[in-house]
Amino acid sequence: METKNIYLDLRKKHGLTQEELAEKVHVTRQAVSRWESGETVPSTDTLKLLSRLFNVSINTLLGSPRQLVCQCCGMPLEDGILSQEPDGSFNEEYCKWCYAGGEFAYKDMDKLIDFLIEHSAVPGWTPEEARAYYAGQLSKLRHWAGPHAPQPE
Ligand SMILES: [Zn+2]
Repeated sequence: METKNIYLDLRKKHGLTQEELAEKVHVTRQAVSRWESGETVPSTDTLKLLSRLFNVSINTLLGSPRQLVCQCCGMPLEDGILSQEPDGSFNEEYCKWCYAGGEFAYKDMDKLIDFLIEHSAVPGWTPEEARAYYAGQLSKLRHWAGPHAPQPE
């Protein structure tokens, strides 16, 4: 889908006129018209307001240039499963199961791997094989490579 249609589709879906949308996100009606014709894109601050208003990610508003993957569990992210900050804005790094209300659900990788093995066991794999596979996949994600990474013993 082209970016310009996203703004038009979302506005129609929410039953707003260009004037009404403009008022809600503090821009002029002409600005809304320009997004819908593809002449301009909203500013970063306006994208945040639109994301809150329409309940879609900024990635979606920009025409989904990135395939988002949860940086904790590796699940592909769509708007319905994105995590949210306590103020209701989306956190486009994590799924809603890994991060909610400003807190991470998994304090260490072992607990997450237990969960993954329980819910998506690969037939024929021993628990040890599954654990080694998930540990390899997870360690590539930012959450486990960054400041939250479990410390080596
Ligand atoms: Zn996740």
